[in-house]
Amino acid sequence: MTSLPLFSANMLLLSVFAISFLAISFSARPNGHWRSWAVANTLITLALLAFAGQQKLPLVVAYLLPNILLLLGLSFHLQAARSLKQTPTRPSLLIAPAIIYGLVAVPAFILNNYALAYTASNVIFAGMCCWVAWTYASPAFNGLISRMALILAFGIMALEGGVRTTHGLLVDTPFGPGLINDGTTSVYLMISLIFVALSGAFSMAISFEQIAQQNQEEARRDPLTGTFNRREFLRRLEDHLRPASDRKFGLVQFDLDHFKQVNDRFGHVAGDEALVKVCQAIKHHLRQSDCFARLGGEEFGVLLPNVDRDDALKIAERIRALVAKQKFAFAPDDFQLTISGGMYHGKGDGLTPTDLVRIVDQGLYQSKNSGRNRISLTLPKNASELRVLPAPQTDRQGGSAKGELQSAV
Ligand code: GH3
Ligand code: MG
Ligand code: MG
Repeated sequence: MTSLPLFSANMLLLSVFAISFLAISFSARPNGHWRSWAVANTLITLALLAFAGQQKLPLVVAYLLPNILLLLGLSFHLQAARSLKQTPTRPSLLIAPAIIYGLVAVPAFILNNYALAYTASNVIFAGMCCWVAWTYASPAFNGLISRMALILAFGIMALEGGVRTTHGLLVDTPFGPGLINDGTTSVYLMISLIFVALSGAFSMAISFEQIAQQNQEEARRDPLTGTFNRREFLRRLEDHLRPASDRKFGLVQFDLDHFKQVNDRFGHVAGDEALVKVCQAIKHHLRQSDCFARLGGEEFGVLLPNVDRDDALKIAERIRALVAKQKFAFAPDDFQLTISGGMYHGKGDGLTPTDLVRIVDQGLYQSKNSGRNRISLTLPKNASELRVLPAPQTDRQGGSAKGELQSAV
């Protein structure tokens, strides 16, 4: 029988993937999707084995078993895709397709209506493949190139299920149980070989791609507050300082006032809570294109691309007022946390990121020295020279002290 080498090739490849996924699942974290893939590949191997040995099996087993194994295998593929997407799958969903098939196929078997059973298995099979392909098309997998191959693999199988359904409905030879053995089996097995190779290799690829993407994201973030970290902030600042760049931007650097006293009075955990709350409030107020980062300890930076000077000043002042009016669960109502900061606005003026950070740092210390709870604007005449101007005053909301916006030009 010409199909035998194709059955063998499919089963060999499926077994290799099943063993690989199982081996990886012992060391990978999270390992749920690896186990699901291992189970899916094992079940599909057994399904092919049952299809290949249909002639030798008792009629009812030959009739039901391969399709049930195949549908269960696809359910585990679906579970793996959903687990990668961080969507849990209920056990009832795993067995539902096989049960629905059984509910149609058993009566069909009793009534000798093999065509109905054949159609049911292929329709459910095609639907499951569409569902898996649809799961990989989710925006949760944006940026992962391997998902295209998985969508293609499950798309091909869904199409194959559709063709087989149509074929089953059109063929006029009397049906036996299971596959239609009219020479098309080899074509289906070739297609399934393509599916097995694509889905196996790219399942592996998408998981590692996702881990790489998560590591990359973590490397850009501060673990406590979830804001960007210093490295990412300086990288973005450097982008704005490229010689060809003609864009004006605002740069604000601020530090929480007397934060050591917050830790001393309410404890370090409360201090952490304050940092998280302040960051959430500020993030909520910034644009998607802005970059807000924790530069270290209780010191933060905000990069405001494409803003004019007045808007940059307004944003800086809004951040100051926002922090000053925050209420904290651990502190009495009259407790107030304030910030002091420095700000730069311009095109970069040929400065390096380190020069700019030094310049806004001078503004920050200027704010600390003139009473805190204020932002100072610093405009370098050249990289090394700074002059200080008196500050315009703005009333702070809800506090007793005056919030100030100073200019150091
Ligand atoms: P100033 O107004 O001059 O900035 O006074 P300050 O007390 O804020 O400055 P100082 O540099 O003396 O202290 C900074 C404090 O910030 C001390 C440190 O324990 C606290 N801090 C830094 N990082 C964290 C953190 O991740 N969690 C908590 N709870 N505290 C932190
Ligand atoms: Mg401080
Ligand atoms: Mg500090």
